[in-house]
Amino acid sequence: MIVTLDRDADPARVRAELTGLGLWTEVYRSDDGGTHLRVLEHSRAVGTDELLRIDGVRSVSAPSPRYPRVDALSDRVEIAGVAVGRGCPPVLMAGPCSVEDEDRIDRLAARVAAAGARFLRGGAFKPRTSPHEFQGIGRRALRWLRDAADRHGLAVVTEALSERTVDEVAEFADLIQIGSRNMHNGALLRAAGASGRPVLVKRGMAATLDEWLGAAEYCLEAGAPAVIFCERGIRGFDRETRNLLDLASVALLAYVRRLPVIVDPSHALGRRDLVAPLARAALAAGAHGLLVEVHDAPDTARSDGAQALDPDDLSALLPDPALPAAADRSP
Ligand code: PEP
Ligand code: MN
Repeated sequence: MIVTLDRDADPARVRAELTGLGLWTEVYRSDDGGTHLRVLEHSRAVGTDELLRIDGVRSVSAPSPRYPRVDALSDRVEIAGVAVGRGCPPVLMAGPCSVEDEDRIDRLAARVAAAGARFLRGGAFKPRTSPHEFQGIGRRALRWLRDAADRHGLAVVTEALSERTVDEVAEFADLIQIGSRNMHNGALLRAAGASGRPVLVKRGMAATLDEWLGAAEYCLEAGAPAVIFCERGIRGFDRETRNLLDLASVALLAYVRRLPVIVDPSHALGRRDLVAPLARAALAAGAHGLLVEVHDAPDTARSDGAQALDPDDLSALLPDPALPAAADRSP
């Protein structure tokens, strides 16, 4: 936002008044000699009318929003009867990395439901670093996932890896996941949005916040009824913790932008021993839910066994329902 001052106004005085209202500004002069105060991003939201009442303020202009559909999003969404977002109990989405066989996904669905999960996750189409690694079972796994979720009262979240398969994923999923590697794939984001399903937009592993918001705008522009953001760690410099779980961005989305955001500590860390502490940290930072991988025989899992929790350990990730949600205690 730009606040333009009267020619004879004292910028220091106006600036001090704005600071008193919680607006951080920097002064700049335009080529025509006018004096302006640029309001910085982390300022409080103050209405234009209030600013125009300040002595010395001539006009206030807001540049057109970069992502108007994201700006217009509500801070809570409802997907398959499950509310996610500000003021809602933290939602747990859990399941194996890959859907491996029909019996296992059914067993795991029963156990994650018993632990309090509301969504069953599991990849039928897997994005893998090497083309020689297990790529997922495909359409048959989507059917197993859907049936298992239905038997145990869960909603389904699963990844669409390509434009080619997005419609079949939409047929079985309540929430379409866009994976980290695909967050910049505008054509896929559009196809996911056009399917009419809500979209879980995982953050690209080297994506800025602006790029992440832009990805959501693609989905919304194409017709997605809702978007949930998912932080899953960005590339840091230390391999020991695999990725750097950026909880500052989570707090920013939850408290400043007021958008529904969840955290995936499994892919962030790549190791099961740190999933629980980071899950708790994520909820404390304002995350509205968690996406967590589990397995009942992780040593033989076809992907990501090292980070899979035992389903019995899931319930410890959620806070006591008697306590207020972190988002309710926001600044
Ligand atoms: C996943 O959740 O299955 C996955 C592959 O995660 P990411 O895209 O964050 O690596
Ligand atoms: Mn995985």
